[in-house]
Amino acid sequence: MTKEMYDVAIIGSGIGGLSAAARLAKSGYKVLVTERFRMLGGRCSTVNLNGYLLSTGAIGIEKSGPLEQTFLDVGAAFPIKRPDPQLAYHVDGKTYTMPPRGGLRWLLHHVAADERDAEKVMSMMKRAMMWEEPSMSISFRDWLAQYTSDPNIHGAMQGVIAAMLVINAWEVPAGAFIQFLKTGGYRDFGICEGGNINMIESLADVVRKNGGTIWNNASAKRILVAKWTATGLVIDRPGGQVEVGAKVVISNAGPKNTIGLAGRENFERGYLMEVDQKIRPGPVVALFVASDRPLIQHPGAFIPVNTRRVCLMFQTTLTCPELAPKGMHYLEAFSAFTDSLGPVDLKKEIEMNIQDVRDIVGEAFDKHGRILAAECFHGDWPAVHSWPGYDVGQKTSIEGLYNVGDGAKLPGWYSGTPSAAETARVVVEDIQNRYKPGAN
Ligand SMILES: Cc1cc2nc3c(=O)[nH]c(=O)nc-3n(C[C@H](O)[C@H](O)[C@H](O)COP(=O)(O)OP(=O)(O)OC[C@H]3O[C@@H](n4cnc5c(N)ncnc54)[C@H](O)[C@@H]3O)c2cc1C
Repeated sequence: MTKEMYDVAIIGSGIGGLSAAARLAKSGYKVLVTERFRMLGGRCSTVNLNGYLLSTGAIGIEKSGPLEQTFLDVGAAFPIKRPDPQLAYHVDGKTYTMPPRGGLRWLLHHVAADERDAEKVMSMMKRAMMWEEPSMSISFRDWLAQYTSDPNIHGAMQGVIAAMLVINAWEVPAGAFIQFLKTGGYRDFGICEGGNINMIESLADVVRKNGGTIWNNASAKRILVAKWTATGLVIDRPGGQVEVGAKVVISNAGPKNTIGLAGRENFERGYLMEVDQKIRPGPVVALFVASDRPLIQHPGAFIPVNTRRVCLMFQTTLTCPELAPKGMHYLEAFSAFTDSLGPVDLKKEIEMNIQDVRDIVGEAFDKHGRILAAECFHGDWPAVHSWPGYDVGQKTSIEGLYNVGDGAKLPGWYSGTPSAAETARVVVEDIQNRYKPGAN
């Protein structure tokens, strides 16, 4: 076994891992990123399926938030193109485009049996934002039920919550949804030109240009721990196993996997209990449909309400035509699982998604559409590693071992990629305060 030394060794090249790596490399730390796959970027990357550049996860990339700030801070290009218009609701077979603000009020007034109920709900949400956030012990659905029993308002809020947070209104803590509204998540967003891999390569370039090292096809097998302190990694590489030493280890593999890699025996019992009790992955179904014409005419986030399951659709190629072969398009449709903690019938979840898309698109679905892929993102590759409000902190009970990514989100930052970038920012700040670069 050979041994190399780094200031910081990072497991995983997701947006959280690479954001941390770019920030650290830029400020003089000797950084190693080790990624188990050939592809960098994790759930924010691109796969090429017969000329269709499909996302491995994220589609709507928030602008003007912690993610864009990361790119600005490290001087990396942020090739995100805004769709115009950005948001539409699809209600009772009709599509309504929305201004960046005020859409939710419009939606509730539009669907409510009695407009006074819609107004009451809006004013209670405003009060929750301005005065006191609701408890984290009550679901948003139960919180809402205090103010209305209108099934259309409940249906509309379920659609919006599933679209934004990928879990259901009966699962998300009311306090977490209100925190999300306060940060203005996804109010301004776009799609990555040429696919998410461009955004990822732009961060990876910063790492490399500042002396950092990125290994792909390199799976971290073990986090080395001595005297309750992280000391390095054992990594499987194509040429054999290597051991690297590091003053700090950052894991982008999700808090549960981090425990597996370092060994449960090395953590404090209280930390293990917190991770075991809190972490709840949020799964999602994604359907990709190719066609020779757009199947919906809206280029941005298309939120259908009162569906069986589908909560969000993107006719991505209206904004970024380069994502499909010339003259072709693809549509992506997401749905939250009926029960995010499961077990669920995966085949049925996919069927419900397809049925919804067929209903929304109409006869063009079968006439012009061809299903490219239908995937359940769950287990080790979920939409989020933990539900909003169910995150653990970034520091672990092992000194020098941090988590970044969407399983260690900060309160309020619940949109996928921005939340991961924000964890990297606070972890890097902590590292800069505790560890000097160099001097191994
Ligand atoms: C279908 C879907 C749709 C989504 N839509 C959106 C959206 O529209 N907008 C949005 O902002 N977010 C969206 N998200 C969420 C977003 O993709 C994630 O929140 C974000 O990409 C997670 O980043 P991360 O930093 O947690 O790292 P991850 O993407 O989880 O990356 C972790 C990396 O670590 C690697 N790794 C794990 N274990 C090891 C090991 N032992 N050794 C080496 N490498 C390892 C993995 O291979 C991976 O590359 C979506 C997700 C999915 C799945």
